[in-house]
Amino acid sequence: MSRADATAESTTATDPADNGAARPTDDDVISLSDVTFGYTATPVVEDVSLDIAAGEYVAVVGPNGSGKSTLMKLMLGLLRPDVGETRLFGEPARRFDDGERVGYVSQHASAAKEMPITVREVVKMGRFPHVGFGLLSADDWRIVDEALATVGMSDFADRRITKLSGGQRQRAFIARALASEADLLVLDEPTVGVDAESVEAFYDLLEALNGDGITVLLIEHDLGAVVDHAERVVCLNREVYFDGPTDEFVESDALARAFGTAVGLGGDGGGDR
Ligand code: ADP
Repeated sequence: MSRADATAESTTATDPADNGAARPTDDDVISLSDVTFGYTATPVVEDVSLDIAAGEYVAVVGPNGSGKSTLMKLMLGLLRPDVGETRLFGEPARRFDDGERVGYVSQHASAAKEMPITVREVVKMGRFPHVGFGLLSADDWRIVDEALATVGMSDFADRRITKLSGGQRQRAFIARALASEADLLVLDEPTVGVDAESVEAFYDLLEALNGDGITVLLIEHDLGAVVDHAERVVCLNREVYFDGPTDEFVESDALARAFGTAVGLGGDGGGDR
């Protein structure tokens, strides 16, 4: 489906609940209305309404088992809600098929980290949705090289992905998303196992990409990183405990309520790892 089609469909998207949640707009990248989901009869995500507009930098926080990954899968259309509606770029999330618009970086940088391929080959994969498995044009290679430069990995282009540090590997996967021209980056605890200095550089990179207009959705356990970088926080524990600007989150008691304990915002926030 083209971008224009997706926009056209989104005009019929809205059926928000009367719960004061902002109404979805054509600019919404992600829109959840009254979403409830359980793997069994017991919901692990309950009555969540949430809209993320293009260009936002949103962090989802919550204790282990609070439903963060499940919520992300619902957002991406990988799970179907029992109740409610999920939309991605204005389209029902389950039917969304412009996969290249979403760059996903997981905690362990996916199975590809075991593959004996070079950084450039990983980034090149980002062009496959555009060219199939055919030959890349000069323009495609230029996009690959630009993506490598953006994440500061040009010098490592010919290095095997298995020979990188954790932080370098995550940057390579960001470059792949950039090469695919993703306009939404979804990151699931991307800096687990990455050394402190590289973590800072990684978040600086995310901030720069967000400044260029890419929507960032970060699932994060490190509350310090969230407070330092995200503009908006969604605090989840089955239900949404807080959704708003990061500075208001810091002032609120949502964290303690969601975690069921007094939790500090410095360094290792949740203490559940
Ligand atoms: P988080 O990402 O916040 O750690 P999850 O979304 O992974 O939370 O899990 C939420 C709840 O759903 C947990 O109780 C977890 O045990 C359960 N759960 C997660 N995945 C599955 C699954 N595939 N089948 C059954 N239960 C699951």
